[in-house]
Amino acid sequence: MAVVTDAIYDPESEAHPDWDASQDELAARAVKYGNERTREVYKRLRGVGVWAEDIEGVADLAAIPVLEKDDVPALQAARPPFGGMLSLRAGTLKRIFRSPGPINDPQGQDEDFWRVAPAAWAAGFRDGDVVLNSFSYHLTPGGLMLDAGLRKLGCTVIPGGVGNSAAQVEAACAAGATGYTGTPQFLLTLFERARDMGHELPIRRALVTGAPLPPPLRARLQDEVGVDVYQSYGTADAGTLGYECGEKNGWHVAPGIVIELLAPGDDRPAGEGETGQVVVTSPNGIYPLVRFGTGDLSAWNPEPCRCGRTSRRLVGFMGRVGEGVKVRGMFVHPRELAGALDGDPMVARYQAVVTEGAGGGDMFTVRVEAAPGCGLGDEEVAALVARIREAVKVRPVVEVVGVGEIGEEAGVVVDGRG
Ligand SMILES: [Zn+2]
Repeated sequence: MAVVTDAIYDPESEAHPDWDASQDELAARAVKYGNERTREVYKRLRGVGVWAEDIEGVADLAAIPVLEKDDVPALQAARPPFGGMLSLRAGTLKRIFRSPGPINDPQGQDEDFWRVAPAAWAAGFRDGDVVLNSFSYHLTPGGLMLDAGLRKLGCTVIPGGVGNSAAQVEAACAAGATGYTGTPQFLLTLFERARDMGHELPIRRALVTGAPLPPPLRARLQDEVGVDVYQSYGTADAGTLGYECGEKNGWHVAPGIVIELLAPGDDRPAGEGETGQVVVTSPNGIYPLVRFGTGDLSAWNPEPCRCGRTSRRLVGFMGRVGEGVKVRGMFVHPRELAGALDGDPMVARYQAVVTEGAGGGDMFTVRVEAAPGCGLGDEEVAALVARIREAVKVRPVVEVVGVGEIGEEAGVVVDGRG
């Protein structure tokens, strides 16, 4: 039995004794809402002859085609402003945002419409904290997403917005802000700016999102700057999708939504350790989403978490769907390759090239430039082959190349077929 501690905001959902069953219930409810309340889901179900009452759980969702995020702008343009995805009149919303795409995003009347509070709670934010929020408050919802979640917890927010680092440092120092929400890079920028200004920035805790947090940046923020950093993950359409707990080893699926990981290309559930598109199903009362393809890639972390939450974890962000190149039926993504080769002191540069082999099959070659002073012999090459195969699920030929043979501009995964 999981131990529920006060580090968990919503034990009923986050530490549900049968988490898979709770996902089934959410999936069925989302399809029911969508079918009853929105033209888009109704039409998509009718298109494949599926009845809402036939959807009893996550596995049944497979009968419904995925709505790709890339298809939403055309849907909205044909039927403005929300493409038949909103269950009520646009004029009854709290706000309407415009995200890159372009995509119109609704904000309903709920206090924490994007469900940010559990993520901020997991990051240690509590009633009475003063938090500098450095996401944009204009047109895109990032600023107000975080703002709403922090306010729900009783935090006081400084609406810093984007840029103006000197003014943000002044504001945070003057108010004694101990918390930060924003991108991880901008947090580092603020500390550097504060140092230049001769100020002591009091921020000690951060919830970062909207940009990658590479391990060296995290180490710098935590070990050198002294900020306890947590990541969350979400989109303007679907709100919070995942967040880190104290273990900081993957993103727990956020309460109130269903996440599937589907193999790009054929939309079957991604297997153990396999990369898949993050596909969201959300029983939101006004903007229900049924199999909404975010275009983001991740994989499941199969280990149960020690924090007490029973919700599954995603390993983190592994790139965007379009970045992958299909090799022998498997998509190979730059980030998977990076996972196998980045940080290897013997490897200076690398590039995967897919070509047509003599027999018509795919040739998957990873060209590797050795780091200065390192010789890559047969033994080292065999180890690289094994590691790359483990990471991308395709066996490569590793070719050691000379200095400068991999161009500065070259892509990490290059499709040289046809
Ligand atoms: Zn956990």
